[in-house]
Amino acid sequence: MAIGALGGTIASTSDADDGSEIVPTLSAERLVAAVPGLGAIATVRAETLAQLPSPSLDEPTVLRTLRWARDAVDAGAAGVVITQGTDTLEESAYLLDLFWDRPEPLVLTGAMRSAQAAGADGPANLLTAVRCALAPGSRERGALVAFDDEVHQARWVAKTDSMSTSAFRSAGFGPIGRCVEAEVVYGVPASRAPALDLPSADTPDTPDPRVPLLATYLGDDGHVLDAVRDSGVDGVVIAGFGAGHVSAAMARAVGRAAERMPVVFASRTGSGPTGRAMYGYPGSEIDLLARGAIGAGWLPPVKARLLLWALLATGPADTARLRDELTARGTP
Ligand code: ASP
Repeated sequence: MAIGALGGTIASTSDADDGSEIVPTLSAERLVAAVPGLGAIATVRAETLAQLPSPSLDEPTVLRTLRWARDAVDAGAAGVVITQGTDTLEESAYLLDLFWDRPEPLVLTGAMRSAQAAGADGPANLLTAVRCALAPGSRERGALVAFDDEVHQARWVAKTDSMSTSAFRSAGFGPIGRCVEAEVVYGVPASRAPALDLPSADTPDTPDPRVPLLATYLGDDGHVLDAVRDSGVDGVVIAGFGAGHVSAAMARAVGRAAERMPVVFASRTGSGPTGRAMYGYPGSEIDLLARGAIGAGWLPPVKARLLLWALLATGPADTARLRDELTARGTP
């Protein structure tokens, strides 16, 4: 079993008497040492890959982590666990999932309470993640998130609370598994989308397309999207109202942007898909599709952004390819 640590609250400690101002300090070995009984269920190779707060992770760091995980299974690990901060865990998990091309489980976890806090949840979550990574039923499921005794699919899981220890949910679909009495049990058969080809080399030339995410808002006149388009980015995702809607003025900006780059619209609601054929007003899904934008389906905005990033990093910005991939990967 390989455990790679990237930082986050699970690895955070404080020098202050009141436990405030925590920062990531603990190594992977220290995280493993804090889990009672871990040595009895797995032979662990632990490695500290970074000591970052998760808002400072980025796509190249996640892809380096992916290569490390691949090397670990190629060297014989039955599964891999990655620990990181919870703030961006749903994003790392999905980016890893898009490229994870091995049957072995790749399981992410973290903690909501720091390592020194009363009732720290990190050790329990790490133990659940290791059990999940060891379970035969976890194979061929891509990347998973194990948290608070539940197992979630990378593409649907999201952090839905800023403080609660049960912060992770999969809106619309729920967790696919539970860890009960040390056993990981799944309610649905294993399945996963085909892995994308990993960009060839981890060099400064590795593609790193610029794909911002914009949230629309009441009275949006589209000037931010126009500015983004003029800044020369490679694509853009819009977190739209309801089923992916925007104002009439924003719809015109979407049309201008779509002439120059891929524009994807997603729903900012946190649950449910973008529409395809219900509404017909300016700024509706039918209007945005007619202006050349692509619907994200069930993918929430942050995951649609990562998918567009990954597609642009690995192949042509061909509209038919982007539309087909978003449609397929945005459908349960
Ligand atoms: N609150 C975060 C966490 O749970 C901090 C971070 O994401 O690094 O780890």
